[in-house]
Amino acid sequence: MAEIQLKSLAHCYDKQVEQPQYAIREMNHVWQKGGAYALLGPSGCGKSTLLNIISGLLEPSDGEVLFDGVRVNDIPPQERNIAQVFQFPVVYDTMTVFDNLAFPLRNMGASKAKVQSKVGEIAEILDLTAVLNKKAANLSADEKQKVSMGRGLVRDDVSAILFDEPLTVIDPHLKWKLRRKLKQIHEQFNITMVYVTHDQLEASTFADKIAVMYNGQVVQFGTPRELFEQPNHTFVGYFIGSPGMNLMEVERCEQGVCFGEQSIALNEHELNAVNASQSTNLKVGIRPEFVHVWDKPNGDAYQAEVLFVEDLGTYKILSLKLGEQVIKARLQEDQKVPHQTAYISFPEQWLMLYIDEYLIAKEAHHD
Ligand code: ADP
Ligand code: MG
Repeated sequence: MAEIQLKSLAHCYDKQVEQPQYAIREMNHVWQKGGAYALLGPSGCGKSTLLNIISGLLEPSDGEVLFDGVRVNDIPPQERNIAQVFQFPVVYDTMTVFDNLAFPLRNMGASKAKVQSKVGEIAEILDLTAVLNKKAANLSADEKQKVSMGRGLVRDDVSAILFDEPLTVIDPHLKWKLRRKLKQIHEQFNITMVYVTHDQLEASTFADKIAVMYNGQVVQFGTPRELFEQPNHTFVGYFIGSPGMNLMEVERCEQGVCFGEQSIALNEHELNAVNASQSTNLKVGIRPEFVHVWDKPNGDAYQAEVLFVEDLGTYKILSLKLGEQVIKARLQEDQKVPHQTAYISFPEQWLMLYIDEYLIAKEAHHD
C-alpha cells in the first residue's frame, strides 16, 4: 500500500482552445497509506479524471502525482501497481470466471498454489464460487461486475485500489452487501482504497474520510460528521444532508448581517471577517436539523409563515417562509407542528457564515 499525494495537480483535456476548461483545478491532496476514502461529487465534477490520473491512464497537464513521495508521472499504469475497477464490467468474455480472476495474479507470475488460494478466497467473498467454471459471457450484469471487482481485489500486493462508481449496474439489494464486503476486505488487507461515488450514503458507509469534489476541486476532506456539522463550502452544505443546508443570502448591517428586515447576530470573529472582506457574496447557513421551532412566540425567535409539511414517517420536514427566504426545519415525530405561523431560531453554534462560498471558522485557528 502507498500514500498517494497530488501536488499542484490540474488537468485540462484541451489546452489548445482559446479558453481552456480545467476538469481538475489546481489541487493539493494526500490519500494516506491504508485509508478507506470516498471521493464524492456530482456528475461531471472531475472524479473519473482524477482517478485516471492516479492510475496513470491519463497524464495530467499540470502538477505531480507522488506515491510514497516518489514522482510517478512518467511511470506507465501497469508499473504503478494500482488496481482500478470501473463503472462497467471489464471482463474477458471467452474466459471462465476462474481465469478472469486469476489473470492479474498470473500476470504477476504468482505460483499455481497462490492463484488457487487467492481466487478461491475472493470468489468466496463475492459469492462467485458456484460460477467459477462458467464462461464470463454467460453471466448476468451483476455477476460480471462482481468478477470485475474481483479482478481488482485478488492482488493483495497492490499499492491502492481505485473504484469508479463500481456499483452503478448492481441491483440495489446486492449493492448494500457488496459495499459491506469491500469494507471487510479493507479491514482485512488494509489497502489504500479510493471509492468514487455521487451517493452520500454510499460514501459514508464505506469511507472513514470523504473528499467532496465540486467543479474540479476538493472543497472539503473530512469525516461524515465533519461534513455534516461544519460544511467548509456552501456546496458541501447543500449536497450533504437530506434536505441540504438552508443557505440565505445576507448583507452587511450594524449587528452583523441582515436579510430583509431580519438581522442575524454574529460572533466577534465572524464580524471581523465580514468587516475585513470586500466581498458582497455573504451567506449564512443552518441545517434543517438545527433550526428550533415553536408554535408560540419565544424570546427573540423569528416569526415565520408555515408553507407546508412533509411527513416522512419518523420525522417531518417543515417548509417556512421567513422574509423572502424559504427555510426548512426538521421536526421529530413527537414534536408539535405549528399551523400557519411558527417561531424559529438559529442556535449560534450551528449558524455558519460563508464568504465567497467558503466557511468562516467560529474562532481563529491557532496551529
Ligand atoms: P465525473 O467522473 O465526476 O462525472 P469526469 O472526470 O468524467 O467527471 O469529467 C469532468 C469534466 O471533464 C467534464 O466536464 C467532462 O465533460 C470533461 N471530460 C471528461 N472526459 C473528457 C475527455 N476525454 N475529453 C474532454 N473532456 C472530458
Ligand atoms: Mg465518472
